[in-house]
Amino acid sequence: MAVETTLSILKPDALEKNKIGDIINRFEEAGLTPVGLRMVHLSQNEAEQFYAVHKERPFFGELTEFMTRGPVVVMALRGENAIERNREIMGATNPDEADEGTIRADLATSIGENTVHGSDSPENAEIEVNFFFSGTQLFDR
Ligand code: UDP
Repeated sequence: MAVETTLSILKPDALEKNKIGDIINRFEEAGLTPVGLRMVHLSQNEAEQFYAVHKERPFFGELTEFMTRGPVVVMALRGENAIERNREIMGATNPDEADEGTIRADLATSIGENTVHGSDSPENAEIEVNFFFSGTQLFDR
């Protein structure tokens, strides 16, 4: 297994519910270490760019409206097998289908307002980490 870096976003609903600490704690306990972290309120343009791969999907408008509703926390998480581990800790996209004890099963409201984002491949992890963090904003720790 290799050490990887992946992008995590705590979505607006996570912040509205005051769950930043709860969620970061789950990652730290699982051996995923934040090596970059900041709060940002995405513009409509940034949200559309970030989710460009979904632009033909019927939920695209709803998704970008939700993601710009309030601030989000963006994090680069590093650890063994971080991309897959993050996805396991998040749970399935639809909280009704997410395994017990996952973030989405415990905290998400719906398939749209599902609390967290996590990169789904090494290629996307690199693109997504670079979308939010320059090299000097990432720390070896
Ligand atoms: N989404 C939605 N409706 C759907 C599917 C997805 O609103 O039917 C939103 C949801 O917030 C999801 C995001 O679009 O997290 C990206 O979808 P993807 O299939 O990539 O899911 P993820 O990788 O986030 O689990």
